[in-house]
Amino acid sequence: MNGILNCTIDELEKIFLNNGFSKYRAKQIFVWLYRFGSRTFDEMTNISKNMRDELTKMFYIYRPKVANVAHSRDGTIKFLFQLADLNTIETVFMPETKRNTICISTQVGCTVGCKFCNTGYNGFVRNLTTEEIISQFLAVKDYLHLWDTATERLSNIVYMGMGEPLFNYENVLKSMQNLMCDENEGISRRRITLSTSGIAPVIERLAKDLPCRLAISLHAPNDNIRSKIMPINNVYNIESILNACRTYSYYHKYLKITFEYLLLKDINDTDDCAHELIALLKNINAKVNLIQFNPWKGCSFTPSKKAQRFSAILQKAGLEAPIRARRGIDIMAACGQLQSHGREERI
Ligand code: SAH
Ligand code: SF4
Repeated sequence: MNGILNCTIDELEKIFLNNGFSKYRAKQIFVWLYRFGSRTFDEMTNISKNMRDELTKMFYIYRPKVANVAHSRDGTIKFLFQLADLNTIETVFMPETKRNTICISTQVGCTVGCKFCNTGYNGFVRNLTTEEIISQFLAVKDYLHLWDTATERLSNIVYMGMGEPLFNYENVLKSMQNLMCDENEGISRRRITLSTSGIAPVIERLAKDLPCRLAISLHAPNDNIRSKIMPINNVYNIESILNACRTYSYYHKYLKITFEYLLLKDINDTDDCAHELIALLKNINAKVNLIQFNPWKGCSFTPSKKAQRFSAILQKAGLEAPIRARRGIDIMAACGQLQSHGREERI
């Protein structure tokens, strides 16, 4: 049996045509799956009984198991989802006044191994499938009963959970296609942000395939510092990333690129670093997001106390540079703190 959430609308149309069903049924089914959150084909009342029975034989509608839910004092909710093979992933729901954002994972673990990141420290297990990526969004809506209300209730998605999205490109792309899909009044590309450690050639592919908001985990103003904290910089250095960003901006001028900058005490938080960063981003349609380091056991970095000062220097030079609010600290749901629990640590 196939997981129907693994299919794009084009793929579903082809399958339907090959099985003697009308092509337009695919669009109707997408509405049921993504706008109403259907978990069975039986409830799809505008589809004939005969076709619903066939669909039930051909497809399943995937949801992960909710293994744990943690509520933070600030309203953030962290979900631990268990996948069919017993691996687990984390997804974070962050309510705000005007929007609600969900932070989703793309891999079990991560291969990139950034020195400050707990996910990277725990190693890599596997890529998530398309349905495992998408179903984090659907399962959170199930759990919080967000189906009856306007889609604005879960309005923004950030691909900023566990894993490097551009190392699982095909599945991430398909998941975004389905979540953005017009047929089911999907989420606008301006409300989806993909965060990457800077896989330059894939950033250029994304610019052509399916643009969305882009966030680059830069974290340093030069290669020397960046390579020390992000070994991937030895493969894709700052210049190659910025060139890819220029291509991205050339095609999509309206999508300002965010550069994430994690402030680490005495590593990248000096005034000189701020000035170097300003020079680096001079010709790019950029904004900087300053991130406070979230410590975790086993990591030797110290949070910087210079965030305000660093931000002021950038802003004086005309660069937007807010300090990102830390969400869900008390439940270990903040950036870089998400964990994967491999099979051997199953719950
Ligand atoms: N792999 C992607 C997306 C997931 S990481 C990427 O690296 O961009 C999401 C963000 O969390 C990245 O900007 C990452 O650098 C940041 N991050 C990782 N560890 C962190 C920590 N301990 N404290 C604060 N931010 C961290
Ligand atoms: Fe992977 Fe992102 Fe963590 Fe780096 S910061 S190890 S790329 S998840």
